[in-house]
Amino acid sequence: MIIGSHVNFGKEQLLGAVKQTISYDANTFMFYTGAPQNSIRKEINEDLTNEAFKLMKENGIDLKNVVCHAPYIINLANKDNVDSWDFSIDFLKKEIMRIEKLGVGFIVVHPGNYLKLDVNVALQNISDAINKILCEDTNVMFLLETMAGKGTECGRNMEEIKTILDKVLLKDKVGVCIDTCHLNDSGVDLNNFEEYLEKFDKMIGLDKLKCVHVNDSKNECGSHKDRHANLGYGTIGFEVLMNVVYHEKLKNVPKILETPWILEYPPYKLEIEMIKKRKFNSSLEEDLKKLFIETN
Ligand code: ZN
Ligand code: FE
Ligand code: FE
Repeated sequence: MIIGSHVNFGKEQLLGAVKQTISYDANTFMFYTGAPQNSIRKEINEDLTNEAFKLMKENGIDLKNVVCHAPYIINLANKDNVDSWDFSIDFLKKEIMRIEKLGVGFIVVHPGNYLKLDVNVALQNISDAINKILCEDTNVMFLLETMAGKGTECGRNMEEIKTILDKVLLKDKVGVCIDTCHLNDSGVDLNNFEEYLEKFDKMIGLDKLKCVHVNDSKNECGSHKDRHANLGYGTIGFEVLMNVVYHEKLKNVPKILETPWILEYPPYKLEIEMIKKRKFNSSLEEDLKKLFIETN
């Protein structure tokens, strides 16, 4: 299984991200090149990158399964705010250049917010933006994430994602990242995941499904909230999530945890252990405390 979590891209950049990944017994990871909330970005340090490459090789971490997540503040949907739209496009172009230097396979992007626009106009704007961002030489695959439908989020159902993708010119450079919390909150009952995948295959094509964000949800199906919960500690439930994670048709698709930290500790090592054993840990918080007290 290709499994990992969100990790920090801090002072040690890619090297730090790889070290965290190894400490979680993971074999892939997802990172933001800076804070998720802003667009301030540092230059990629080549020495750290080369050291990270070495460590990845030694630990069997394949760059083509590694995911970068774009910051939340960019919005490709609202062309009416020309400055913000141009800025978002420009940022993503540069971000793609930065991560191409690292050699990572995917960038995950939230489609955007339609705000006061007509949704269909917004969807067209997103396609237009993607067509400006991608070019023949782009080596990173651009993944649109399925959203919970909080506020005016675009991409809250399969139809919207398809509408955007249909108007993208360089079709082999785009794909989809599904997020289990977002799907649940948008109204998809993950008990019927098989049905969802069949519909996905018919509408978009399963070969376009390139990444899964694995999160439980704090809210009911259809709540349009987007608050992530630890695996088995939300409304989706552990076994339903395992049916997604272990689905035969998603075998080669990277699975990424974006579950909340517990106290001040990242839960990923223990959640990845739960997944590997396919066994729910009902004392996650206690075990985490023990783990971090032991190692520090
Ligand atoms: Zn996301
Ligand atoms: Fe996500
Ligand atoms: Fe989310």
